[in-house]
Amino acid sequence: MEYGQFWRNKELREHIAVMEEKLSPTIVFENGVYLNVFTKKWTEANIWVYGSRIIYVGDSLPNNLEGVEVVDCMGQYLVPGYIETHARPYQLYNPEELSFHAGKFGTTTLINDNLGIVNLHNKKKALSMISNFEELPISMFWWGRYDSQTALRDEEVIYTTKNVFDWLENPSVVQGGELTAWPDLLAGDDRLLYWIQKTNKLKKPVEGHLPGASKETLTKMKLLGVSADHEALTGEEVFSRLEQGYHVGLRYSSLRPDLPHLLTDLENLGLTHFDDLSFTTDASTPSFLEKGLINVCIEIAIMQGVPLAEAYRMGSYNAAKHLKLDDVLGSIAPGKIANINILYDKADPNPLSVLAKGEWLVKDGYEKSHPKKINWQEYGSEKLQYDWDLSENDLQFSIPIGLKLENDIIMNPYAVGADITTDTLPANTEDAFLLLIDRFGKWRVNSIINGFTDSLGGLASSYSTTGDVTFIGKRKSDILIAGKRLKEMGGGIVLVDKGEVIYELKLQLNGTMFIGGMNTLIEKEKELKAILADYGYKYENPAFNLLFLSATHLPYLRITQQGIFDVMKRETIVPANMR
Ligand SMILES: [Zn+2]
Repeated sequence: MEYGQFWRNKELREHIAVMEEKLSPTIVFENGVYLNVFTKKWTEANIWVYGSRIIYVGDSLPNNLEGVEVVDCMGQYLVPGYIETHARPYQLYNPEELSFHAGKFGTTTLINDNLGIVNLHNKKKALSMISNFEELPISMFWWGRYDSQTALRDEEVIYTTKNVFDWLENPSVVQGGELTAWPDLLAGDDRLLYWIQKTNKLKKPVEGHLPGASKETLTKMKLLGVSADHEALTGEEVFSRLEQGYHVGLRYSSLRPDLPHLLTDLENLGLTHFDDLSFTTDASTPSFLEKGLINVCIEIAIMQGVPLAEAYRMGSYNAAKHLKLDDVLGSIAPGKIANINILYDKADPNPLSVLAKGEWLVKDGYEKSHPKKINWQEYGSEKLQYDWDLSENDLQFSIPIGLKLENDIIMNPYAVGADITTDTLPANTEDAFLLLIDRFGKWRVNSIINGFTDSLGGLASSYSTTGDVTFIGKRKSDILIAGKRLKEMGGGIVLVDKGEVIYELKLQLNGTMFIGGMNTLIEKEKELKAILADYGYKYENPAFNLLFLSATHLPYLRITQQGIFDVMKRETIVPANMR
């Protein structure tokens, strides 16, 4: 199979030979009842799989079953593998580990943000990396972004027309966006419009990122070529998007677990048509995904009274149809990729067995292990090596503009009242030193963060959208120790208090991603939350806070490569210092 969706001529001939019984299927599912997503009926059938493809669905069985794996599905139900439409696979985990974790719970297709790959790799390596992902049993497809979602110093070098087009034209890239720079688009950015038009000509949907958009803005974005959005926070917002012809991703993420109330609102609004809805867990923390991804969303929908066939379609076929992948994904039918979940109860979407590209990920409750395929080093993803040291000279704080946390992700400008020229900030306030340093050590941005901690000595973190390093803390001496340990580890998150390292998480892929299984990572993340809570962190997702300090799609003030950045005015209000 090429680009995760096209079989070669030779393979297609083999598929015909299976139909003609000149070749045997690899797996036959007998006596099962499957959800036919086209008729929305639960239908009895035998299903023949050959390699990665479903060959036949119907009454017949092959005459010769020798060497065929026959799976008796008497009393069980088969549904198509689930599809996550908006995966952001770099939330401490890496995309490969997330894919196996998702697959274990029946989500066998991820439509992935390309941001983490684009920002850190050169294009040639990045595009060969996404073809490497095709070797995984889980179907991995990608977005093609138009902007970095932060203020990069070399934004213009990475997001050129040539680069953006090379991504969009790749068959594994199935949508443009998400479009976070839509205010620029509305303000007249014609280059961005040109890129969107290119996406439309390629017949790939453009996903918006339109939180709080008015009906008028939604109309304008439709006129400019945007076709989907996942930012609706109320049923009314979902409804107005549907009315204007948008495909809407209903979100259940650690930051916005909105799905239950969206469904309640939609029921109250009398919605009975679900074809243009799908689910997303967006950028969720590891621990939020402990019980899976889209299986959890389907379960919520079923509990809220969404008809069964519709709930499963929202988790599979609707997404495939919207992304024009329905030729190969989202249904159990001839010609589709063999992504099949086996359920013991129609109303329980948590699968007993999971087949992905014709390979078992889970069989009768037992996980099958699969070799890792992504050689990160080959793509230049490895431990961070800093050729600079954090020094006392970097810890000079004088600018009276700070960033005040309103929650995990929203920060407001804040006039710093305290004396910040000292080596230690007093423990009875919520002020802490905040420093962002270039991963290559060229520049730094110093400020104060209010509301992150009332007592922690020092934190160092390479976990950011750009790979640059953040330091936060009350004591310069602890910040220096944290910086030293971070350098030794080659990236990650380190907490230090009163001279002692009290927590560390190694993120040895580019300083942002964990090498290793999700279960270990989930425990490490819970520990981080608990320790930071002890030191006065009041919100739910401290890791997100670190990740999004530089994210210019979030209000109102951010700390970026260019300096302290006013999101609404789109300008740097305090520039970075050269080191
Ligand atoms: Zn978004």
